[in-house]
Amino acid sequence: MIEVKELTRRYGRHYAVDKVSFHLERGEVVGLLGPNGAGKTTTMRILAGFLPATSAERLEVAGHDVLRNSLKVRESIGYLPESVPLYREMKVWEMLDFHGRLHRMGRKDRRRRTVEVLEQVGVSERSHQLVGTLSRGLRQRVGLAVALLPEPPVLILDEPTSGLDPLQRREVRSLVRDLTDDHTVLVSSHILAEIESMCSRVLVMAQGQLVADGTRQELEQRLGGSEGVRLEAFVGADPSGALELLKSLPGVLRVELGERLGIHQGFVIHGEGDLREDVGALAAQEGWAIRELSSQMRSLEDVFAQLVAGNAVELAGAKGLDESSDPVLDDGGGLLQLQSSSAPSADPGGEGKPARKMIYSLNPFDQGTSRDLGAPMEIDDPGSSDSKPDDPEVRS
Ligand code: ATP
Repeated sequence: MIEVKELTRRYGRHYAVDKVSFHLERGEVVGLLGPNGAGKTTTMRILAGFLPATSAERLEVAGHDVLRNSLKVRESIGYLPESVPLYREMKVWEMLDFHGRLHRMGRKDRRRRTVEVLEQVGVSERSHQLVGTLSRGLRQRVGLAVALLPEPPVLILDEPTSGLDPLQRREVRSLVRDLTDDHTVLVSSHILAEIESMCSRVLVMAQGQLVADGTRQELEQRLGGSEGVRLEAFVGADPSGALELLKSLPGVLRVELGERLGIHQGFVIHGEGDLREDVGALAAQEGWAIRELSSQMRSLEDVFAQLVAGNAVELAGAKGLDESSDPVLDDGGGLLQLQSSSAPSADPGGEGKPARKMIYSLNPFDQGTSRDLGAPMEIDDPGSSDSKPDDPEVRS
C-alpha cells in the first residue's frame, strides 16, 4: 500500500531523510518512531504530497507514483499534519462540508460522511460549534474527521496526540486503533508507549536514517534477545547451590542473584529462548517453592535508546569523528537492519542557506523541486490568518 525506496530529502547540505526504504501492506498499522529532528514529519509530508523529495528510487501510495501522480495519491490519503489545519471561524459541520467540496463529493455524500465521521471521532454533539472555540483535544478529533472524510484507504497521522492531556491522548489512541479495520495507517510519535499501544510494527528513524523495522518482539530479539527469566523461590538458606543448578541448565548463559525477600531468593536467568519451562521443571525436581516465575521483557524504551544511540555512533564514524566506531547493530540482514553509513555529502551551493518560506500549492510537483510546501493555516498561528476557508489552494 505504501512503497518507499531510497527516499532522500536534503535541505542544503543537511540530509533530513537519507536513503530511507520501507513498505506497508494493506491494513497494516505502522508506527514511525524517532526523536525530534529524526525526519518523521519530512517523510510523511513527502508521502502526503506536501513536500517534494530530493530523490527516490520508488515512492508509491495506493498504487500511485507520488512523484508523477501526486493528485491521485492525495485522493488516496487522509493526512493529519502535526499542527492541524482548521478554520476557527467555521462551524464543525461547515468545515467538513467544505473539505467534502474540495474532494468533489456530492451533496448527499458530504452529508452522509459528515454525520458518519463526526460520530466516529465522537464530536457529533459539537457539530454546530465554531471550530475556534473547541478544546485542543476536540480540534484534534475534528482534524482526524477531516482526514477520514473521503474514506481514504491510507491514513498518515503525524503525532496525532501531540499537545493533548493524558486523557485526550488515550482517547485519540483508541480512535486510531479503531481505524485499523478499514485503513492502512502510518502514525508517527516520539512517545514509545504510544506506538506500542497502537501499532503492530515499528519503523525507527534517527538522524534521517531508518535504523530499524520490525515488530516489538523482533526488535527486542534482534538486539541481543534474552530478556531473562525472573525466578523467586524458597531454595533454602544458602542460594549458591540453586545458582549453580540454574547455570547448568541447557541454554543458560548467565544467572544473576537477585534480592532476598524474606525466605524467598530472587534470580534472573539469561539465556537462549524462553527458559521458563526448564526453570520450572528444575524447581519442581529440587522441591523449591516458587513465588514468581516470569519472563522479563525488555522495554521498547531500552530498545529505542539502543537503536538511536547505535545510529549516532555509526554516523559519527561515517563523518570521521570516530573512525574506529563499529556499528552497534550488526544483525546480518533480517527485519532489523542498519542503513548504509554514508555520511551526508557536501553541497557547497546549499551551505548557509536560510530556511525557505513556506508557501501553499495544489500541486507542488508542478513547481519543480526547489521549494517547500507548508500545510495550510495552523489554528494557533496568528501569522497565518490571511489564509481563508475559500482559498482555492488550501487542501484537506
Ligand atoms: P519532530 O519530532 O521534532 O517533529 P521530525 O522527526 O518530524 O521531528 P523533521 O521535522 O522531519 O523531524 O526534520 C528533520 C530534519 O530536517 C531536522 O533536522 C530539521 O531541522 C530539518 N528540517 C525540516 N524542515 C526543514 C526546512 N524547511 N528547512 C531546513 N531544515 C529543515
